[in-house]
Formats: sequence, structure tokens, C-alpha cells
Amino acid sequence: MRLTENARDLFLPAACASCRSAPAAGSGLCADCTADLLALRPLLAAPAVRTAPPVVAGGPYAGALAEALNEYKERSRRELAPALGAVLARALAVAAAEVPDAVLVPIPPTRAARRARGFDHVATACAGHGDLHRVLRARPRPDSVGLAPRQRAAAAAASLHAVPRRLAALAATGRPVILVDDIVTTGATLDAAARVLRGAGVRVPAAVTVAAA
Ligand SMILES: [Zn+2]
Repeated sequence: MRLTENARDLFLPAACASCRSAPAAGSGLCADCTADLLALRPLLAAPAVRTAPPVVAGGPYAGALAEALNEYKERSRRELAPALGAVLARALAVAAAEVPDAVLVPIPPTRAARRARGFDHVATACAGHGDLHRVLRARPRPDSVGLAPRQRAAAAAASLHAVPRRLAALAATGRPVILVDDIVTTGATLDAAARVLRGAGVRVPAAVTVAAA
């Protein structure tokens, strides 16, 4: 099946990642879906985990944005990075106005996810949109489906750790951090990341995501 799909991708012009019908431009999206993404306005997400930093999302996880994000993550359609990065950048503009001189810390993929995808999808989407500091690493993570919120929070907390030397260097600058992730659901991952950074004395007043579920 996968072979057939790969062969099809080789010989036909790529279909739009969102609507899958119209042929895509080099951006991976057709003109209509590109317009849908451009029409999105950033929103303030309200994650269930109250201790998570406030989150500005590029748009709701629905429609063209959800489809494009899924194709980007699950089918490694890296050509979508600029379009999704533009959505992220609008959320970032809102957050950065409240947090001057902030650096960006992306939520890292697990090693397995990165290998499967072939690239770090969050860091790639925010490339060029700020001062990126990769101070976090992800441990292998058990599937969180079916976990209660408390178990999910514990799994998220255990899954992230700092690169000590990089975190110390970041803390020494005194600059605040805006966390970056692809999607916010409960906020457990962002909360866990913020705790790691705050443990080193780094302020984390905000987070941005491409989409809010
Ligand atoms: Zn389309």
C-alpha cells in the first residue's frame, strides 16, 4: 500500500495536503487552502492544565490547518513547513509583543519520531521566526491514549529533560522563553517543559503552537 502511494507520488503532481483534490503548488497547498490558512487569526488557548503557560495558537485544530498539520507530521511533507511556519509566526507575533526579548524553545520530538519523520518538525516550522534554543530533549514516551489526566501529566513530565550545558547558557542570558509546539491539547507537555526551564531559573511567560485542539 505504502509502495503504491510512494509510486503515485513519484509520477503525479502532488495533491494539496489539505483538500487532496486540487494540485498543490510548491508550498504543498492549493490556492484555496493557502487562503484558508492565511485567513486564520491567532487565538488564546485555554489548556486544562492550569499551571501551563498561557498559549497563543495560530488557529483551531480543524479544517485546512488540521489536515496540513497531519500531513506534515505523519507523512513527512516537509514542503508544508513555510505555510505552517507562517501560521505559527502570527501566533508568535502576539506572544512576543507581551514578552520582549524572548528566545524560542521548541518542544523536541522523541528520537523515534524524529527518525520516522526524517526531521524535527517543530524546530523546522519555527526556523527563521526567532532566536531558537534547543535546550530540551525527549525520552521515549509511552502511548498516552487512555491515560487519565494525572497519568498523562506524569508521563509528560518524565518525557522531557534539559541538555544541562545549553540550559545553563540560556539561564545565564536572563532572557525569557516562549515555548513552541505543534499543537496544544491538555497543556501537559508545555507545562512539563516550563517546569524543566523554571527549575534552572528561566522565566517562561508564554507558549505558542500552530494549532489548538
Ligand atoms: Zn487544497
